[in-house]
Amino acid sequence: MKLVFATHNLNKLHEVQLLMPKNVTILSLNDIGCTEEIAETAKTLEGNAQIKADHVTKNYGMPCFADDTGLLVDALNGAPGVYSARYAGEQKNSDDNMNKLLEALITTDNRSAYFKTVIALNLNNQSIFFKGKVEGSISKVKHGDGGFGYDPIFVPNDYDQTFAQLSIAIKNKISHRGKALQKLINYLKTLN
Ligand code: IMP
Repeated sequence: MKLVFATHNLNKLHEVQLLMPKNVTILSLNDIGCTEEIAETAKTLEGNAQIKADHVTKNYGMPCFADDTGLLVDALNGAPGVYSARYAGEQKNSDDNMNKLLEALITTDNRSAYFKTVIALNLNNQSIFFKGKVEGSISKVKHGDGGFGYDPIFVPNDYDQTFAQLSIAIKNKISHRGKALQKLINYLKTLN
């Protein structure tokens, strides 16, 4: 089965390809020639994931899944949440986002946070949602150079290293997106 993953992010594409069953071929937005920016205008992760999946299925006629992720920080009442990508501005720069977050937490000891991913799958004219979450805390400084986004400042519970220091295999096993993807994969397996 050919399934589009509505992303331009090569890190994410790589994470996802490693997890998919062999009979599923994942195509990226670049692979199908979708170069336009899909505006994420919803106020929820579910809404944004659905907008992206719907855009591909409607305009390219292919089954598609899309994800939307937020980092929800307890001391900030769940911010940056659905606005995680542009927390520090429309330039969507990871370093700027992390610096702003470290600054916002400078006076608090409560550094608890979690990542949440929602995947929307469009298949056979049906939309189905899969969710995953990983709890952890925000470190005081950045550590590691793997991964992407907020990885250098997120330490998952039961580990003493950030996602940017842990291997991609460990991250995939315990991460928000890994868990949501596992649910998607289990569902895809039931279709065979
Ligand atoms: P998106 O919905 O995947 O585009 O992610 C929204 C924001 O969360 C972006 O700033 C991403 O860099 C960040 N993000 C998403 N997934 C991860 C992750 O696995 N680790 C760290 N940051 C992430």
